[in-house]
Amino acid sequence: MEHEILEFWQKEKIVEKYLKKNDKSDQKFSFLDGPITANNPMGVHHAWGRTYKDLWQRFYCMLGFAGRFQNGFDEQGLWVEVEVEKELGFKNKKDIEKFGIDKFVNLCKERVKKYSDIQTQQSKRLAYFMDWENSYHTSSDTNNYAIWNFLKVCNQKGYLYKGHDTVPWCPRCGTAISQHEILTEQYLEITHKAVFVKYQVDQGPVARDQEEFLLVWTTTPWTLPSNVAIAVNPDFNYGIWEINGQKIIIALKLAKGAGITEKPQKTFKGKHLVGIKYLGNFDDLPALKNVEHRVIAAKDLVIEEEGTGLVHIAPGAGEEDFKLAKEEKLAVVESIDESAVYIEGFGDLSGQNAKKNPDLIFKKLEEKNVIFKIEDYTHRYPTCWRCKTELVWRVVDEWYIAMDRKSKVKSQKSEKTLRQQMMEVTKEIKWLPKFGLDRELDWLKNMHDWLISKKRYWGLALPIWECSKCGNFEVIGSNAELKEKAVEGWDKFEGNSPHRPWIDNVKIKCPKCHSVTSRIPDVGSPWLDAGIVSFSTLPEDWFPADFITESFPGQFKNWFYSLIAMSTVLKNTNPTKTILGFATLLDEKGQEMHKSTDNAIEFNEAADKIGVDIIRWMYATQNPAANLLFGYHKADEVRRRFYLILWNSYKFFTDYANLAQWVCEKTPADITKKLTILDKWILASLTDLVLTVNASLQKYDAQTASRAIEEFTVNDLSTWYIRRSRDRVGPNAGSVDQNIFLSTFYGVLVTISKLSAPFMPFVSEEIYKSMTGDDSVHLSNYPLGDKSLLDKKLIDDMKIVRQLVETAHSIRKDKGIKVRQPLAEFTYGENQLTDDLEKLITAEINVKKVTYKKDIKPNLDTKLNPDLIAEGEAREIIRQIQGARKEAGCELSETVTVKLPNWPAKYEAEIKKQTLTAKLIKSATLEIVRSL
Ligand SMILES: [Zn+2]
Ligand SMILES: [Zn+2]
Repeated sequence: MEHEILEFWQKEKIVEKYLKKNDKSDQKFSFLDGPITANNPMGVHHAWGRTYKDLWQRFYCMLGFAGRFQNGFDEQGLWVEVEVEKELGFKNKKDIEKFGIDKFVNLCKERVKKYSDIQTQQSKRLAYFMDWENSYHTSSDTNNYAIWNFLKVCNQKGYLYKGHDTVPWCPRCGTAISQHEILTEQYLEITHKAVFVKYQVDQGPVARDQEEFLLVWTTTPWTLPSNVAIAVNPDFNYGIWEINGQKIIIALKLAKGAGITEKPQKTFKGKHLVGIKYLGNFDDLPALKNVEHRVIAAKDLVIEEEGTGLVHIAPGAGEEDFKLAKEEKLAVVESIDESAVYIEGFGDLSGQNAKKNPDLIFKKLEEKNVIFKIEDYTHRYPTCWRCKTELVWRVVDEWYIAMDRKSKVKSQKSEKTLRQQMMEVTKEIKWLPKFGLDRELDWLKNMHDWLISKKRYWGLALPIWECSKCGNFEVIGSNAELKEKAVEGWDKFEGNSPHRPWIDNVKIKCPKCHSVTSRIPDVGSPWLDAGIVSFSTLPEDWFPADFITESFPGQFKNWFYSLIAMSTVLKNTNPTKTILGFATLLDEKGQEMHKSTDNAIEFNEAADKIGVDIIRWMYATQNPAANLLFGYHKADEVRRRFYLILWNSYKFFTDYANLAQWVCEKTPADITKKLTILDKWILASLTDLVLTVNASLQKYDAQTASRAIEEFTVNDLSTWYIRRSRDRVGPNAGSVDQNIFLSTFYGVLVTISKLSAPFMPFVSEEIYKSMTGDDSVHLSNYPLGDKSLLDKKLIDDMKIVRQLVETAHSIRKDKGIKVRQPLAEFTYGENQLTDDLEKLITAEINVKKVTYKKDIKPNLDTKLNPDLIAEGEAREIIRQIQGARKEAGCELSETVTVKLPNWPAKYEAEIKKQTLTAKLIKSATLEIVRSL
C-alpha cells in the first residue's frame, strides 16, 4: 500500500502541490534542518529525527503556514575522508599526499554526491515531504564563503587566535580532536599496562638522600620520556619504606595499592618533597639534555584514590600538564610526531611508534632497573570519533576561537565575553526537554576555547593567510575580497570550489611587511559547516528559525553549540526559537546498534518489513528524553496495539457503508437533531482529541498528541463506539439510524485521517482518499475542532458508564457467567445517569434492567431462571451460527439455511433474524447451507 501511495504522490505531483500550498500565506513556519551526514545510507536512527522534522512541517503546512522545506546535507570533514581512505586502502596521510590531494578531494565530493542521492531516495520512502531539488549542501561555495565571513568577523572582534598547546590527537587521522568531538561514547574500555616506576632523588640544594626513590605510577608509559616533573599534594602524608635495599617514597594511603604492606620508616607531609630535584630516566637521550626535573605541588591533580600520590608530569603529552608547565615554568619535551612516532633526539626510540610498541619503554626502564611493578589496568580511554584509534596528546599549533575575550568592536554588549554572550543567547531559546538548557549552559561554562582547525584535506579551507616573515595573519571574508587581494595563483584557483588544493595556489601580500604569504594548510571543523546554516540558508526574513530538532547526546557540544556561537558572533541573537532534542535509538535489548555487532537495522529493510507508518508511529509516541528501543517485536506490538485497530475500524465502516450503499451526500441535513447519545459522545470526545492534539503539537509534544490519537481510536472509537453500535448497521438495522451512525462515523474517520496525517502519511492518505474522493489528505486543512460539539459532562458521564460496565463484567467473570447469558438486573448508586446512558449499560452487560438506587454500590443480580437460561442458549446459538457463516464465507447480506441439533423454540424468530437464516433444520451438527 505504501509503495502504491508513493507512486500516486509522484504521478499526481502531490508533494509539489503540498510545498506550494501556502506560498502566499502571511504566516510562516521557519524550520531549519540540521544537515544529515551524506556519508552512508540512512539507518533507522536517522528516521527518528526526520520523522519529527516532517511531522511539524506537515502540521504547520496543514494549518496554512508557508514553509521552506529545505533539507541539508553535511558533506565536508573527516568522516568522509576516512571512508574514502578505507575504499582506497590508505593507512595514513602520506598515502593521500602521494595519491594527490586534488584526486582525493574529488573522490570525497563524489562520495557525498552518491550518498546524498541515496539518502534523498530513502527520505522519500519515509514520506518526508521536502523540496528535494533545493537541498542545501555544506560543501557548497555559498556555505564555505559564509563561514569565511564569520571567521573574518571573529578576527575583527579579536576572538580568533593561533594557539600553541597540547591537544588530543588521532595518530591515524593525523589531526587534533577538539574537546567538542570527544564524546562519552568515544571512551572505550581498554586495558593498558600501567607501571610503577622509580625516580632517583638527586642531591641538590634541598639536600636529600640519593638512595631515595620517588615512586610514580602511570597508565601511559609511552609519555615517560617527556617527564619533566613529579607533582605531589603538599597536604598528603607520605612515607619512606626500605624495600630491597632501596628507600621508596609514596603516599601513605596508596602504599598498599603498590603492594607495600610493611610499616614506613618515616612519614612526612608532601610539602617537604616540593622543590626536590630528581634524575630523569631518559636523561641520556639528546632531547632531554639540559632538562631539569623537580617535584612540584599540585593539589587538584594529586588524588588519593589511585596511583602513588606522586604524579608524572609530561607537558608535551598532556593538557593539564601543559597548563602546569606554564605556571611552573617547566620545560616542554615534545616526543612524538603526527603519527605518534618518536621524533629525533630519542635515541633508538626515534622512528618507533609510541602507541604500538609499549614494550620499548619497559625495556628501557628495565635496563635502568627502575620498574617497581607492572600491572594490567582497565580504564575508559578516549578514541578517535571517526576511526576509533586511541588518542594521544601532543603539542601543536592550532587555531582557536577564544571564549573569554571581549569584542574589540565596540557595541552595546562588548563588555561581555563571547562565553557570557553565548550563555545569554542560550537562555533565549526554548529547550525541549527542559534539561537541554542546563546541559548547554553547563557545556558553555566549562568548555575551553573552540579549536577550529584540522590538519586535513576535505573541508572548509580556513581563510587565514599567515605571514612566515612577521607572523601577521589576514582573514579573508569572501571570494571577492580574495580576488582583490590575490597577487599570485588566482588563475589556478578560478573556476574551482574554495577547497584544497586549488585554493592553496592563491597568495596575498602581508599588509605589515609586504612579503607574499600563503594560506595556512589547515581545514575547518565540520561544526563550522553546520553552524553557519542559519545564515547561509535562511533568508533574512526567515531568521531566526522557529524550530530545529536533533538527537541531543552529541549536539550540545556540536551543532547546537556552533549554531549558537555563530549566531552570537554575527548577530548576538538566538538562531532558533525552539530546540527539540531527543535521545538515542538502541536495539530492543537496549544495546547500541552497530554494523559490527550485527544489530544495526538499515532503513530500507525496516521500511519494507514493517512499514513507514509504524516506524513513524514508534517515534512519535516515544518520550524524546528517553532512549528509544527499536526492533521488529516492538514494531509488531505497535501494529497490533494501534495500527490494525485503526485499519479494522476503517474496514468496518467501508464494509457496512458499502452494504448499505451509503454515500456521503445522503447525510441528512438535520442529522445533529437525531444523534444518539453515543454519537454525541464520540463527537464530543473527538473534539476533545482535536483540541489536545493541536495544543500538544504547538508545544512540540508529539508524544502526547500521538498517544491521544491512539487512545481515542482504540478505547473510544473501536472498543466503545463501534462495539456499542454493531446493531445499528447490517441487514437488520433501521435505515434512519444506520444513516446517522454511518454519517457520524464517517466524520470521525475523516477527522482522524487528517489528524494523523503528519504522523502516518500513508494510512491516513488511504483512508482519507477512499472516503472523501479528494486529492490528498496532505493538501487538506488540519482539523481545529468545533467547540460547540465539546460536551465535558457527557464525556465524564460516559466514563462512569464504562466504569460501571467494567464492574458488572468483573462480577460475571468472578462467578463464571458468560456475557451472552442474560441476567435480570444491575443496580448502581452515586450519580444517577440519564435513561440513554442506562440503556447503553443494559445492552453492554446484557441485563433486563438497570436500576438506580441512591448510595448503593454497583451490584449485579446473578440469579438465573429458565427463561433467562433459554435466552442465553439462543444467544450462544446466534454466536455459533455467525461464526459458521463467516467460516463458510457468507456475504453480510446473504440469507442461508442452518442445520443444528436444537434451539429454544421461543427464540426461533430472533435467531433467524439475527443470523439471516431462512430456515432452521434439526440435525446432529451445526451446518450452514448456502443457496448459492
Ligand atoms: Zn582517527
Ligand atoms: Zn609579514
